[in-house]
Amino acid sequence: MRKPLRCLVFPLIALLLVSSITYAGFFDSLELSLEKEIGHNAYEEITTGMKVVKLPATEEERLQAIFRRLVNVSERKKELQYTLTVVEDNTVNAFALPGGYIFVHTGLLAFAESDGEIAGVLAHEIAHVDRKHGMSQIKRQLGMAFLLQLILKKSEAKEELGKIGAIAINLTQLGYGREAEYEADRYGVYFMEKAGFDRKEVLNFWERILEQTGGKENPAFLQLFSTHPPTSERIKRIKAL
Ligand SMILES: [Zn+2]
Repeated sequence: MRKPLRCLVFPLIALLLVSSITYAGFFDSLELSLEKEIGHNAYEEITTGMKVVKLPATEEERLQAIFRRLVNVSERKKELQYTLTVVEDNTVNAFALPGGYIFVHTGLLAFAESDGEIAGVLAHEIAHVDRKHGMSQIKRQLGMAFLLQLILKKSEAKEELGKIGAIAINLTQLGYGREAEYEADRYGVYFMEKAGFDRKEVLNFWERILEQTGGKENPAFLQLFSTHPPTSERIKRIKAL
């Protein structure tokens, strides 16, 4: 009697395992398509509201080459199409949207003194996407059940997707929370070193900001201060990695 039962139990367990894997895979792919949709909506919104800058060809190529080196060592490079867009704004800032849309202000490009400094900031932004910080916050705010409903009726959900895009943009201004920022710093340093840059460069960048602001709020760096943990603490943590 025992043997036939065992014969049944094992295939059943195997079936359950396989189906839970496909089930998870199914939801992962739905979530990925939603992330791309939200990111694209938010990207359109940003590029309508801000002036997109076309740099002179050699500068553009140099910037995109730095960016590609970093994307190539990131973990989600196969499932996402990372893009980098320069926007006109004199403040020193960069930000990322779900789906891999990274933006950098002209003010940051002017402030950076080397390719490595730019790489350090871009690596931090890529890390936010790679670690899904934006999507996790959106899931937390709206609940996965609601997001799944949206995916299933995607064609009629344009308006709702637009609203979620607005949340994604808002998050880039509010930040993803202290822990997510430290995680993006850690992964950022990992990506930049894997891509052949020196972590000293990103430390130089933060130390210069600290020097110029004395750690106090300054309109030119306001965004970086409001969305990120204290600069001195970040420097300390990056040095300790
Ligand atoms: Zn950040």
